[in-house]
Amino acid sequence: MKIINQIDKLRSAVSSARSDNKKIGFVPTMGALHDGHRSLIERAVTECDFVIVSIFVNPTQFEQGSDYDSYPRTLDADAKICKTVGADIVFAPNASEMYPKELLSWVQVEKMTEGLCGAFRKGHFKGVTTVCAKLFNIVQADRAYFGKKDAQQLAVIKKMVSDLNFPLEIIGCETVREPDGLAMSSRNKYLTEQQRKQAPLVYASLQLCEFLVSQGQSDVKFLKSEMEKLLGKGELLKPEYIEFVDAATLDPVDGFSNDVLVAIACYLGKARLIDNITITPKS
Ligand code: AMP
Repeated sequence: MKIINQIDKLRSAVSSARSDNKKIGFVPTMGALHDGHRSLIERAVTECDFVIVSIFVNPTQFEQGSDYDSYPRTLDADAKICKTVGADIVFAPNASEMYPKELLSWVQVEKMTEGLCGAFRKGHFKGVTTVCAKLFNIVQADRAYFGKKDAQQLAVIKKMVSDLNFPLEIIGCETVREPDGLAMSSRNKYLTEQQRKQAPLVYASLQLCEFLVSQGQSDVKFLKSEMEKLLGKGELLKPEYIEFVDAATLDPVDGFSNDVLVAIACYLGKARLIDNITITPKS
């Protein structure tokens, strides 16, 4: 496995794999890899012939005053994981090469980025779609793998790829969790011992919602209030939003006629945790 930092070197490595008719898989990450990332890389390795994992803490998706400087950076450990899982290249570009001058060209998906996390993280998705468009152009993969944990990101990237005709298939991968249900995240490192004990309530509230729906409950207001009650048991948890939206369009819903994404964001100390489930209505 090679670690490549420069865009032109990455391009030539990928083009020689492509001329050997290899199917190219791409897993974009910000590093601090955990088993959630590992599952994406494993799937890419299973389904593709040549796999690139990018590790880039993208400055344009961090709002002012957020954790860009303190975001965990663990390149050596990350590269070991990528090698063990069978990736061919770790692409770790420098911010100075990704953004050499003032950026005047942005890629933005409208409407779908206004709600959920987009309502609280101004400019975040504009940074995400722009860096993904840049990385897709640099890597030129056949398939890119994204986690369902970041459900809004996945839906937005799928829309961008479809609207702008990127010749690329986007694959959504299941959320990997700790044994107590907490969705794995690089930001879980910020949790203190006491905060960590309360973190599983986030997924527990989603499971409660799923259970109540399976029992025939479909009143979104009631479901939200039951979830809030459960989250309230963690006095350190500060819910930011609980939303029920159409899983494909991200439009708010008040019932269960199509697949419904139930999405949560909570603060626990300085960690912002997000999680979600998709509920498919019984036919
Ligand atoms: P990040 O490094 O946090 O930007 O995440 C890189 C990719 O890994 C994104 O597509 C995430 O959705 C995905 N990912 C992060 N955490 C998990 C998880 N617990 N399970 C599955 N995928 C994940």
